[in-house]
Amino acid sequence: MNIYSPQMLNTFVECPVKYFFRYIKNINIPQLDHSFILGKNIHALAAYYLKGQNIDLFTLTESEKEMWNKLLNSDYFKLKPIEVESNISCKIADFWIGGRIDALVKSDNDEYYILDYKTGSIPQTPEYNFQTIVYLLCCDKLIQNYTSLNFVYLNVKTGTEKIIKFSDSLKQEYKNKVIETYNYIQKLSQPNVVHNEKCNNCSYTKICV
Ligand code: SF4
Repeated sequence: MNIYSPQMLNTFVECPVKYFFRYIKNINIPQLDHSFILGKNIHALAAYYLKGQNIDLFTLTESEKEMWNKLLNSDYFKLKPIEVESNISCKIADFWIGGRIDALVKSDNDEYYILDYKTGSIPQTPEYNFQTIVYLLCCDKLIQNYTSLNFVYLNVKTGTEKIIKFSDSLKQEYKNKVIETYNYIQKLSQPNVVHNEKCNNCSYTKICV
């Protein structure tokens, strides 16, 4: 069964050619850079911590220590963890969407927050990033009874936060957006290559002609 992840949907919107290489031809060219390694360390540490496991064995660089302290100081990170590094999914129309959330936490008043740690930057339009859309739709199905449901981007580099509050109108809008994108993907054949400024940072440049 194919589960459409935020990464798949975001990749399609970014560039259908890239989607074609990555998810139809299965050509994976990962971009392994310093921020990727940094992000993995912070995510692993946060998961151990929220699960109540021993984090003494983690050795952190100075920049990682700074990020870790910013995360510890976030009020959202201090709430009760419900899910940590969990796979979640839900059915929309006749297909599935889903992925792995960093954490789902809740307040005493049943206010739920999906946490997403960023060691790079928060997306430019976070309300319409498929990470926000997919995880809010999935958690809405998962929890059902809540006072409020929110998605929180925590930038552990700068200490900035961006919160998106879920609502009935957003739910309908998000469902429509997912269905529309899914329908475009189903029609995708060998796409025409049109190079643009996004190509400068694309790992597929060498094979994309
Ligand atoms: S090089 Fe440009 S056109 Fe080709 S996959 Fe990357 S972003 Fe898309």
